[in-house]
Amino acid sequence: MSLVSAKEMLQKAKAGKYAVGQFNINNLEWTKAVLLTAQECSSPVILGVSEGAGKYMCGYNTVVGMVKGMMETLGITVPVALHLDHGSYEGAMKCIEAGFSSVMFDGSHYPIDENIEKTKEIIRIAGEKGISVEAEVGSIGGEEDGVVGGGEVADPDECKQIADLGVDMLAAGIGNIHGVYPENWQGLNFDVLAQIQEKTGTMPLVLHGGTGIPEEMVKKAITLGVSKVNVNTECQLSFAAATRQYIEEGKDKQGKGFDPRKLLAPGTEAIKATVKEKMELFGSVGKA
Ligand SMILES: [Zn+2]
Repeated sequence: MSLVSAKEMLQKAKAGKYAVGQFNINNLEWTKAVLLTAQECSSPVILGVSEGAGKYMCGYNTVVGMVKGMMETLGITVPVALHLDHGSYEGAMKCIEAGFSSVMFDGSHYPIDENIEKTKEIIRIAGEKGISVEAEVGSIGGEEDGVVGGGEVADPDECKQIADLGVDMLAAGIGNIHGVYPENWQGLNFDVLAQIQEKTGTMPLVLHGGTGIPEEMVKKAITLGVSKVNVNTECQLSFAAATRQYIEEGKDKQGKGFDPRKLLAPGTEAIKATVKEKMELFGSVGKA
């Protein structure tokens, strides 16, 4: 199956009151782990690529080639969207050109009028190719790959303005943060989420910063209209912990344990376990 836009899978998720996970990828192992788990769980999936990760993987063309080749070789039949995460205007244009099936344009740091103008332009160009578009209102807190957000709570009226432009999914700050949450975190603002949901109707809403939000809050957010949850840091932590354990146990020094295919295997398995856990939590298992 070739890459698909995220539009249809998210509309189905919204109607079915579950969420599709966006799992950010960093390299071949990451991509393989996420694709295999989605197939095993018979779940739709969104592969997220930040601009930094795109650069790390040698550009968007490389990413598209790797993902498409892998899907064919692994026999992946579940719906897969390849999505630019927190894209700039220029980054979104490059990904549309390279063959991504979905892009996020994060104009949340612009004044609302400029965010609207630029989002409209991206929608027009992406729309011609059937590529889905995510927009953001009210910047999401914390730092992700050099993109620093102020952690504002979105204005529901601004959310409606952007939703009405014809985006396919909308990210709105509701107290969520990228990376690890501080101990004194106040939790998600469900009142604002409910207001946004009320104003934007059937628009699938996106929850960024999925790592460390208590499971009950994630579930509640899904009942309030969240249809896409982004997971990034959690896979990184799982991968690092499993790799650390392998080395601390001295396994890289036993036989050919230094072989990268062996050295990276526990981390890859750990990503798979985390992705599966998230798909179960989001309710997307069996929805492909
Ligand atoms: Zn994000």
